[in-house]
Amino acid sequence: MTRWCRFAGDRGPQVGRWDATGVRSASVDGAPLATLAGLVGGTIDPRAVDFGEAVDVDSVELLEPLGAYPRNLFCIGKNYRDHAAEFAASGFDATSASIEVSPEHPVVFTKPASSVIGPGATIPRHDGLTAQLDYEGELAVIIGRGGRGITRRDALDHVFGYTIVNDVTARDLQRRHRQWFLGKGLDGYCPIGPGVVTADELDLDSVQIECRVNGELRQKAALRDLIFDVPTLIATLSAGISLIPGDVISTGTPAGVGIGFSPPRFLAAGDEISVTVDPIGTLTNKVG
Ligand code: MG
Repeated sequence: MTRWCRFAGDRGPQVGRWDATGVRSASVDGAPLATLAGLVGGTIDPRAVDFGEAVDVDSVELLEPLGAYPRNLFCIGKNYRDHAAEFAASGFDATSASIEVSPEHPVVFTKPASSVIGPGATIPRHDGLTAQLDYEGELAVIIGRGGRGITRRDALDHVFGYTIVNDVTARDLQRRHRQWFLGKGLDGYCPIGPGVVTADELDLDSVQIECRVNGELRQKAALRDLIFDVPTLIATLSAGISLIPGDVISTGTPAGVGIGFSPPRFLAAGDEISVTVDPIGTLTNKVG
């Protein structure tokens, strides 16, 4: 398995290969790699990468794994039936004229690159702006080879790998402003990581997602329960928008978010959210 990560090195951000023995720094012709851009875009042959000695993963500060976001991150809303139902019942969905449970077509929005933070980084509370902070654990696709008009059949050939996103959401802003960008785009609202598993190593049919808040299991689902699967999402997005290497598509969250409870269970200062997808790892962030 190849699992890439980035960590804070002595001379700045450093790409590493992360396995059971630890993290090994990656370099090409003696030059350390600072971002995954070359590997994701195919301008660096993975066979040309040299690796340093393994160091314990707990001894390094992991960073968000890509290090290069050419533009917004695509996100998919209401893509698990159970979550679509809890969202509709919560009263927080201001985008549907009627109580629509399962969308007929993928619901797409974006988060700005400025919302990205790494594993272990603090999620800002934005006190005074929101009082209804919520979490959404999700599997995210990283596009390798770009293209427009990608078919469902060819879609997975365009995937570099997979990581985890916590689609942090201010529910009051999401509802008040109708369009979801503000409620989901604040600084620090897109924790990503901890690693990137290459596409050949992940069997999408067996992927399980779990999300815990302060250790309590809140979300647990199988990726095969997506309403619109990964090939459909890539085909839909690329139909008229050219996908480019490094584009991220977060596939949507299962049931069990804070507004799925009655009364809602919003996040508070000090709460710790952990999203786990094997073999990517666990993405853990605390609310500041
Ligand atoms: Mg989401």
